[in-house]
Amino acid sequence: MGASGWPLPQLAAFLPFYAGIVIFANLLTAYLLAAQFRVTRLLPVAVLSAAYLYSGLIVIPHALVLPGLVSTRELAGPEPRPAALMWLLWHGGFATLVVLYAWVEWRFGKTKLPKAAAIGWNILMPAAVTAVVGLFGLLAVRGRGLFLLLVGDDRGQLAHGMAGWAIILASLVALGAVVAATRCRTLGQLGLSLAMLAGLFEVMLTIGADSRFSLGWYAARVIGMVASGAVLAMFLYEIVRLYHRLADVNDLLERLAFVDGLTGLANRRQFDQRLEAEWARAIRDEKPIGLVMMDVDFFKNFNDRYGHPAGDECLRQVARAVASVVRRPGDLAARYGGEEFAVILPETEEEGAAHVANSVAEAIRRLALRHEAGTTLGVVTVSQGIAVLRPKAGDSWDLLKVIADEALYEAKKAGRNRMAIAANRFEADSIPLSDTG
Ligand code: GH3
Ligand code: MG
Ligand code: MG
Repeated sequence: MGASGWPLPQLAAFLPFYAGIVIFANLLTAYLLAAQFRVTRLLPVAVLSAAYLYSGLIVIPHALVLPGLVSTRELAGPEPRPAALMWLLWHGGFATLVVLYAWVEWRFGKTKLPKAAAIGWNILMPAAVTAVVGLFGLLAVRGRGLFLLLVGDDRGQLAHGMAGWAIILASLVALGAVVAATRCRTLGQLGLSLAMLAGLFEVMLTIGADSRFSLGWYAARVIGMVASGAVLAMFLYEIVRLYHRLADVNDLLERLAFVDGLTGLANRRQFDQRLEAEWARAIRDEKPIGLVMMDVDFFKNFNDRYGHPAGDECLRQVARAVASVVRRPGDLAARYGGEEFAVILPETEEEGAAHVANSVAEAIRRLALRHEAGTTLGVVTVSQGIAVLRPKAGDSWDLLKVIADEALYEAKKAGRNRMAIAANRFEADSIPLSDTG
């Protein structure tokens, strides 16, 4: 008796614990693989999910016929134990399916099944595997003659008999096939290779350990649990990584959906959403809400004179100037479209809105962007329309935009580089910038 035969304390709870872990890990892995197959429709994944389902399911009849676990002595049957045959069918079957997987991976690695075939597989395959496992369970209990033929007449012979060697060989072939076919390119394939390596050790130790609760027997069970969990662990790692990627992509999508690509300001969509929300809040709180619409003066001329790329750069700088002024939480600076910008100012009276507009005009003039095609100052300027309203229930939020737009039109008409404030009576009142700032 080698070191692996050393008897250790008989932990009654160990076997159910082991069986539970192995069943749970294998079935969960099979489920995740089947789910992955639904998405990728790659045939190798389908075969591997069948292998794990088989491995998870067959532990159930194996545990049932294992003497002293759940079964009575009677169900366990006379020596030779049906559990030994179940064990052979389990590891032999799993190794065979994994070899099949490796062959499919090597032969059809990137082949995608049609959608209907993938759905059909995920329905029929579990039924077929369950039927086979049921049949094997029956065979193990009732097929004593076959069992004798295979393994001789007691468990001791398992170690030296043909069957034991066949299982070791099958596990070795499965390991080699997986490594050769996949070259462990993905984490899942690496996990599977590790599982097959651990599986090989488990099989050798099980066959080498001639009594239960010996050192080798415990070691085999522990390695078996590791083997069952290896692919699952890789799956969990991948899932966590996917969560991170998903969050990143979500951030990106949000940016693309709500942020203007050229200037980095809020885009029109975000502007509309925010204005509608702030409008509703203003109605609820009976507070004023301000809107400043601004439009770069003679910008078509700017493009014509300095070129479109320079025009883009000018818009970026103007946007930065607008953003630098709009800093109060709740305020929103947006690119309304083309060379038009807008600032939403919740809870702001006319004086406050005019102050913001003045600061914007000042910041843009300070940029001193040369513009000698139509402007009087020789630098880029903006015209601004300001509207402040105290909306009542039922008022449409479009109103504020319409009125600010009218005021902007007035400012343009009055000579540009200035602001116009729409009075509460919706009358535009034009104020040249030189007078106000
Ligand atoms: P006004 O003083 O009356 O506002 O004159 P304007 O030339 O600025 O007005 P108009 O609406 O005729 O021209 C707007 C120009 O803005 C036309 C278009 O070429 C330019 N523009 C709009 N979007 C962009 C952009 O993203 N990049 C650049 N470079 N130019 C743009
Ligand atoms: Mg315009
Ligand atoms: Mg313009």
